[in-house]
Amino acid sequence: MIMTKAIFDFLPDIPPVPMFADNPINRDDHRRDDANWLKVTMHSSNARYLIIVDDKIAMSVTPSLSKATFQYDEIKALSENILQEAIYLGLWDGVPYFTLKITLNESEQLFDKHPSIKAIDLRSIALGMVGVTNQEGLLGVLSQAKALFNWHETHPFCSKCGAETSMASAGYKRVCVSDACGASHFPRTDPVVIMLVLDGDQCLLGRGHNWPVGRYSALAGFMEPGESIEQAVRREVFEETAVKVGRVHYLCSQPWAFPTNLMIGCFAEAQSRDITLDPIEMEDAKWFHRDEIKAALNSPDESSLLVAPAIAIAHNLLRAWVENGD
Ligand SMILES: [Zn+2]
Repeated sequence: MIMTKAIFDFLPDIPPVPMFADNPINRDDHRRDDANWLKVTMHSSNARYLIIVDDKIAMSVTPSLSKATFQYDEIKALSENILQEAIYLGLWDGVPYFTLKITLNESEQLFDKHPSIKAIDLRSIALGMVGVTNQEGLLGVLSQAKALFNWHETHPFCSKCGAETSMASAGYKRVCVSDACGASHFPRTDPVVIMLVLDGDQCLLGRGHNWPVGRYSALAGFMEPGESIEQAVRREVFEETAVKVGRVHYLCSQPWAFPTNLMIGCFAEAQSRDITLDPIEMEDAKWFHRDEIKAALNSPDESSLLVAPAIAIAHNLLRAWVENGD
């Protein structure tokens, strides 16, 4: 069915801000190559350190979940070159914030001195499984730190010549150690389009293999080189379901540090309805009525449809559609 009316009329005046998308840090990028400022600041009592332990984040769990930060004096004994791979995140309310990674062994003496601090993974923090954060923007800052470490960990070698790389620009660059090469490498972000395909009062959702019973979500896929957002939306929907898409409307985006993605949330206009599934990518895909989505969002215990939790941008897309469409 070809839509003739303006199907994007429901779009909210103020787009939603997905989880992780609110980040109060002033990234202060001109300081990243100011070696003197960095050195003086890192050793001063002004600097605050967010500590990553293995792949988790050191968080204070009482009285409520909040950032656990340390001063240089509290961490200098943990290892000889503790600051060597510290990353400068930027200024948070004027305070310089750094992040650094320590091993489980190194964390033991820190946690002995600070029993209210635990190492918690970012997903559990965002899902509220360990307590509610009381700090606006905290999840955004944590995801900035996490995405940077995820990139550093997977780029120990130069992609041009194979030699080792070392951290530079306070964590925003890696440089090849080979004199003959010396290539610079920058933190990567991998864009993913995620789209709610609409046909009047219905939307198209799919489920992947081995998902929990009843779970359906917006279709999504990695953007490819040389592709616009609109083209990626049309291609992914067609590859997965053979549904044709016309107009595409961007709503909002979300940094997704699992490991280094940017989720680009869109609505898309269906130009056909018949579904032919790609059985490798998808277990099922089908059309859902707006009322089913509304019930799944508002009364999840009574709904057989399980939609994406509030941590995911798919949730924002569904809410924006049902809440503004009446
Ligand atoms: Zn190289």
